[in-house]
Amino acid sequence: MIPFLDVGAAHRELGPEIDAAMARVAASGWYVGGAELEAFESEFAAHAQARFCVGTGNGLDALTLTLRAMDIGPGDEVIVPSHTFIATWLAVSAAGATPVPVEPDPLTRNIDPGRIEAAVTPRSKAVIPVHLYGVPADVEAIAAVARRHGLRVIEDAAQAHGARWAGRRIGAGTDAACWSFYPGKNLGALGDGGAVTTDDAELAERIRRLGNYGSPAKYVHEERGANSRLDPVQAAVLRVKLQALDEWNDRRRRIADLYLRALSGSGLGLPHVPDPAEAVWHLFVITVPNGLRDALQQRLTQRGVQTLIHYPIAPHMQGAYRDLGHAPDAFPIARDLAQSVLSLPIGPHLPTESAERVAQEVLEALAVLGAAR
Ligand SMILES: *Cc1c(COP(=O)(O)O)cnc(C)c1O
Repeated sequence: MIPFLDVGAAHRELGPEIDAAMARVAASGWYVGGAELEAFESEFAAHAQARFCVGTGNGLDALTLTLRAMDIGPGDEVIVPSHTFIATWLAVSAAGATPVPVEPDPLTRNIDPGRIEAAVTPRSKAVIPVHLYGVPADVEAIAAVARRHGLRVIEDAAQAHGARWAGRRIGAGTDAACWSFYPGKNLGALGDGGAVTTDDAELAERIRRLGNYGSPAKYVHEERGANSRLDPVQAAVLRVKLQALDEWNDRRRRIADLYLRALSGSGLGLPHVPDPAEAVWHLFVITVPNGLRDALQQRLTQRGVQTLIHYPIAPHMQGAYRDLGHAPDAFPIARDLAQSVLSLPIGPHLPTESAERVAQEVLEALAVLGAAR
């Protein structure tokens, strides 16, 4: 049996250091904020090539607090990808604004910069590109459109820790990047966690205040904030794992290269990394043509290969967004991706032999299903 992702394997690799980090926090007597959090924030900012980092309770809050800190709220519109994890949309809704979907480029599966302009209205305040599956979106092209229309750019970097665009880390050069440290992410904690990185000192301060009861000083409340802070135990664990992130991303890259080589010419839709981008392969997502996705997944399960679907229902077709009144075929690229995507096992602890077997099982399954070219 080849599991989709072995999240516990990270602990087997770094166990003693992770245990020591947790014990350090336990012994410190300091359980909210403090030195361990500050150290992680400055180390993560340095890794992301940003001036400031503010820890948050999770990735969804990182996005929501950033929008609120930009005074984006009721009556405002925020452009989001039609194909993404629903949290991107939920953050916009949590801030009180309305998500306005824009279709992806079917090749990169990321928001299509060429389609953004048509979605801009006088109410548009920001655009949130998502570096989906760890493949960077074309933030240069997106920022150019945003500049023309006075939109802020907030990167949803929850799936792309360490990714680069034209040699620079993603997140550098836009208003802010929002990160999740959910356990299954490339940089994952032992529970929930998140952060915002930015070069804007004022924005960073406002986000920190909003995540701390809107409080610039104890028992002084300038605005109605939330309680959303990165836990120091998680910060201490993340400091250990941050040391391993680049090496772990390299291991993911080797697996992705293996899949790309083995599956080229198979008739499957393979991930496409645009030229100046360096992906970090949070997921390796194929698209299966001719309505054979579910049959392929079923066959792989029978053969002991666990796969997942990211994501089976497009956000505009979810009950949570019924009130927006989008017809299913209002966003056909997102709708079709939801029906054809399949994620193969990938992770820093997936043995090469397992990846080889996955590729072989996929090819055999395609032959059996009559889908091979
Ligand atoms: C995981 C994820 C989030 C939300 O992060 P949480 O820490 O789970 O709240 C947001 N956007 C994307 C694209 C994600 O993958």
